[in-house]
Amino acid sequence: MSQTLASASSTHFADDAGFFTRALLGANPLYRKLVWRSAIGLAPYGVSVLLVVYAMARGLCETRQGWFLCVGMLATVIAFHLALRSGWSQRFKDPGLSLAGVLTGMSWTVLAYLFSGAAHATQLLFLGLTMGMGVFNLNARHLRLTCLYGVTTMGAAIIAMTQIAPDQYPPKIGYYYLALLVICLPTLMAVGMQRVKLTHKLNRQKSELTEALTRLKEISIRDELTGLYNRGHMIELMKHAVARQQRTGEKFSFVMFDLDYFKRVNDTHGHGVGDDVLRSFASMATGILRKSDVLARWGGEEFVAVCPQTDDPHAMVGIERLLREWSHAEVSAQAPQLRVSFSAGITTYLADEAIETALGRADQALYEAKAKGRNCIVRL
Ligand code: GH3
Ligand code: MG
Ligand code: MG
Repeated sequence: MSQTLASASSTHFADDAGFFTRALLGANPLYRKLVWRSAIGLAPYGVSVLLVVYAMARGLCETRQGWFLCVGMLATVIAFHLALRSGWSQRFKDPGLSLAGVLTGMSWTVLAYLFSGAAHATQLLFLGLTMGMGVFNLNARHLRLTCLYGVTTMGAAIIAMTQIAPDQYPPKIGYYYLALLVICLPTLMAVGMQRVKLTHKLNRQKSELTEALTRLKEISIRDELTGLYNRGHMIELMKHAVARQQRTGEKFSFVMFDLDYFKRVNDTHGHGVGDDVLRSFASMATGILRKSDVLARWGGEEFVAVCPQTDDPHAMVGIERLLREWSHAEVSAQAPQLRVSFSAGITTYLADEAIETALGRADQALYEAKAKGRNCIVRL
């Protein structure tokens, strides 16, 4: 709640709503949508008040009861409007006050049926209209509740008035209204239930779609074999690292790894073992490099890491440890005796140079490591 209010006040200054919008719907843009939506639900009160005034003028209902209805309904409209536009309703699970709105509307309709004398028939229409509002907003439980409430209260009012004032509420017509009530409200409730089902289906589809999109995005940035980031995503990350370097001056390095004599591994032990070796390298390097280092499969048996602050000699410790441990590690369960080494080239990114230039230098360092006899790291 406090968070909602905090963000509400922070958006306050960005609000460019006109004077009339603010005056009618309130100053808070977050609550305005609810206020506007509720205006549609509250509009029938205006029509109802006009009808009561007409009924009073024509002598169709008693003045005292008529005024009670008018004042009560207008007070209800004002109360709902204030509850929504002030943000008070935000403390509830249903900040739009849909259930309260439908139940209150039904209650006034039943009272209006009791008090509007010969003009009572129109109230059945208003009851249907009120239930109709619920069709779009209520959940299944609240739809059942409002239907039951409407049928029992209005049903009781219809029966009671045929007994109390049979002149103005003739029993013949009263029972006809009762039948209408018992058929129409449950029908509207059934329509509402369909809408609830449809909403659930749409929400499910929406979350499935969001999940699928997230999965697709994840797949599109990952290398299938090793699970590391792929080359395309690594280039994006390098651009971010360059932007950060330009902003903060923080140094970072590129490390290029290439497994030694990997073709021989494939030729001697088969492609399956070669794949095992690639997966093992990815897993061991991820475990040994620092959390802040990012490793990607650059292609084939080549890997690239972006390492923040690698001009710090401590940062090199992980890469050197990886070199030692990797050359002694078991890299495939299918070939337990097999040992593979790697060579690596490291370079620090220099301010304002193109990424390709720095990568070229790392590649050159790697080339020199190979020339030096492999299983070593060269820094350029
Ligand atoms: P060097 O020490 O000079 O790097 O020699 P090398 O044999 O490692 O390099 P070379 O470029 O000659 O061979 C790389 C091999 O990597 C060739 C290719 O078949 C293999 N390779 C590339 N991608 C994969 C893969 O996804 N799985 C397997 N098993 N092998 C791959
Ligand atoms: Mg290679
Ligand atoms: Mg190689």
